[in-house]
Amino acid sequence: SDSYKLVSKKWKVRPTSIDLGDGVTIESGKFAIMTGPCSIEGEDQICQTIDHLKENGVKIMRGGVYKPRSSPYSFRGLGIEGLKQWHDAAKEAGIKIITEVMQVSQIEEMHDYVDIFQVGARNTQNFNLLDELGKVDKAVMIKRGISGSIDELLYSAEYVFSGGNEKLILCERGIRTYETASRNTMDLNAIPILKEKTHLPVVADPSHGIGIRHHVEAIALASIMAGADGVIYESHHVPERAYSDGQQTLNFQESKDLIRKMTEVYNLR
Ligand code: PEP
Ligand code: MN
Repeated sequence: SDSYKLVSKKWKVRPTSIDLGDGVTIESGKFAIMTGPCSIEGEDQICQTIDHLKENGVKIMRGGVYKPRSSPYSFRGLGIEGLKQWHDAAKEAGIKIITEVMQVSQIEEMHDYVDIFQVGARNTQNFNLLDELGKVDKAVMIKRGISGSIDELLYSAEYVFSGGNEKLILCERGIRTYETASRNTMDLNAIPILKEKTHLPVVADPSHGIGIRHHVEAIALASIMAGADGVIYESHHVPERAYSDGQQTLNFQESKDLIRKMTEVYNLR
C-alpha cells in the first residue's frame, strides 16, 4: 500500500525516544525545551544565549545559520563558519545544537557540528533532502509544511524513517490560513492527532505558530496541555535588534518566566 506505516502506531506501539547523548533525550513522558535565536549572529550573541540556557537548565539550543528568507535581501545566515563557532562554544557548555539544513549538499559539511538537523517548513516536501537525511546518523526534526496537512507531515517522516533513520521528531509550527491577525495559524489540533497517529515525539513551535512576542507564552502553554513532548521557541538578549524574527522573539527575562510556567503546566498534565 502507498500509505505511511513505519511512523504509525500500527507499526510500533512504544513511543520512540530520541537520545542525543549525555542524558539529553526527547521523548514521550518527558518535556524538552529548545530555545535560542532565529539566526546565529556572532560570538557575543552565542555566548549570551548559552549563559541563558545554562542558568535555566535548558540543554538544547536552536539557531539558524542557513536561513530561508522570503526576500533574498534579508539576512540569510552566517553559514558553516557560524555553525563551527557556535559548535565550539556549545560543546564546551554541554549544550546540544538544533539547526536547519536547507539542501542536500549542506548535510555533509554540517554533520559533525549538529545534534539535530531541522527540516524547515519550506522544505517539508523536499523529498531529495528527506531521502538523504534517511541515511544520516543524527536526529532530524521535521516541521509541518506552510500549507501542509498532518498526513503530509507523516508521509515526510516516513521518507526519513524508511530510509533507515528512526531518530525523528515532528514539529507543529502553524499553517497558512485566511487569517491575517497572526503570522500563522497554530494548529493545536495537530498535536493530539499526531500523538494518536504516531510513536514519534511531537514538539510545538509557538514563535512561528503565532508570530507575536507577547502571545508566545499562551500558545506554548496551550501546546503543552494539548500533549506536546517539547517546545521550541525563539529567544535573544535584545530581540529588538535580532537579525530575524525579533517580533516573535522573547527576551531572556520573558524566556525565564516561560520556562518556569511551562514546567508548572507540564506537571499539571
Ligand atoms: C525557524 O525555525 O527559524 C524557521 C525558519 O522556521 P519555519 O521553517 O517553521 O518557518
Ligand atoms: Mn525564525
